[in-house]
Amino acid sequence: MYQVGYCYYLGIGVEIDKHKAFAYYLKSAEAGNSTGIRKTAICYYYGIGVEKNLDKFYEWLEKNSEYGKCAHCNEDNSRPAWCQSCDPDIATRWTSRNKHIDDCMKSSQLRAWKYENVIEWIPFDRLSDVKEIGKGGFGSVYSATWLDGIRKVDKINYDNAYGYIYKRAREPYSTVALKTLTGSMENNNDFLKEFKSLMKCTLNYVDMLAIYGITQNAQTNEYLIVFQYANDGSLYKYLRKNFSALTWESKLQILKDISSKLDSIHGCAYIHADFHSGNILQDQQSYIADLGLSKKNDENDSEDNIYGVMPYVAPEVLLGQKFAKAADIYGLGVIMSEMSTGQRPLDGHEFDTKLAVKICKGLRPEFVPGTPKCYIELAKKCMDSNPQKRPSAINVCNTIINWLYNYEIKKQFLEADKVIKSLPISKHSDEMYTSKIISTKLIAKAIKADSAQINLDITKI
Ligand SMILES: [Zn+2]
Repeated sequence: MYQVGYCYYLGIGVEIDKHKAFAYYLKSAEAGNSTGIRKTAICYYYGIGVEKNLDKFYEWLEKNSEYGKCAHCNEDNSRPAWCQSCDPDIATRWTSRNKHIDDCMKSSQLRAWKYENVIEWIPFDRLSDVKEIGKGGFGSVYSATWLDGIRKVDKINYDNAYGYIYKRAREPYSTVALKTLTGSMENNNDFLKEFKSLMKCTLNYVDMLAIYGITQNAQTNEYLIVFQYANDGSLYKYLRKNFSALTWESKLQILKDISSKLDSIHGCAYIHADFHSGNILQDQQSYIADLGLSKKNDENDSEDNIYGVMPYVAPEVLLGQKFAKAADIYGLGVIMSEMSTGQRPLDGHEFDTKLAVKICKGLRPEFVPGTPKCYIELAKKCMDSNPQKRPSAINVCNTIINWLYNYEIKKQFLEADKVIKSLPISKHSDEMYTSKIISTKLIAKAIKADSAQINLDITKI
């Protein structure tokens, strides 16, 4: 249809009529034709057949689906510098020489829909300055410089009226995080399980730390996931470092962020199952990391042994019940107490069966004096012994948003900021708060013995 407009514009076979030309361009644009869209934008820019209108020009330019032609099939690109018909397939032309890794990565590559989110097999010699920055329950985390740099698309404005050219590019080099899993060399299944969970969440638009690819340590042969590097480290470290300066409002923003992302993970039918402040990473925003133990809603048997950091583990899980979303919410409640005190929960307790029994009987971490009442109530609800009574992640998120916009409640938090914040010296090392094996069988046994003891005591009276 834009061709008819073209004829009116140049007077081919008809009298020149700029108004009619514009009308046909607009019709074609409204039907989604990319040339029509571009011509309509130009008419608005120069005032051809219609009054000049820069707002409309930009509006149509935004809709311009013209991202140039694909160099392989010569069709229109579907995204800047990206052809959906050719590029996902081209991205899979490589090999790690390990079939499991290849299959798993390639199935993610085939689902990529823009240049920037294509994961890649990264040769280990393209990573320099590899330094260990943390040790978790299952492996180490390193920082490194990726010499090839993160992918990006540069937008070059070559003509105000015609739009942009897009060019594939990379950062000159990038700081990235590498994460290994103990035994990843022998056990590809576990290693890839975390990778698969991450990719599934990412492809479902959950705002996770970006994944750039997988590499293999040339010396140890271990496989490592290459991630976005979170500048401020774990939430726990961030709290320690900034506690006295952190306002309640910024703490609420962090909690809002975390609860909203936890809701998205739950929305993808995943349960995190190891939710603590060492697994939340701080950058410009908060990210939920470490899906190594995550489970799908339905893959879930009760187990004799679980992994976790005891003070964050919900009582029903300590007793051997299966993980459910409500167990993640319990962890969120514990994190809320940590945000109040700046201290890790149940510091000074041995993380043994005795402590587990106490948690099952209702022991919970504390809050500092001056913490607003509504906050303590919400955190306690999250840590309710009855999983059914715990709110959902989206409920927590909405409640916090409500606080941030409710003047009366906000006043309580501003008041709480006046309380002098001091950090007690922690009794435990950080290592205590990494995930470890917890025997639910022993805990259940101890609970039984404990109630037998109570019965015995009662009969004595
Ligand atoms: Zn193509």
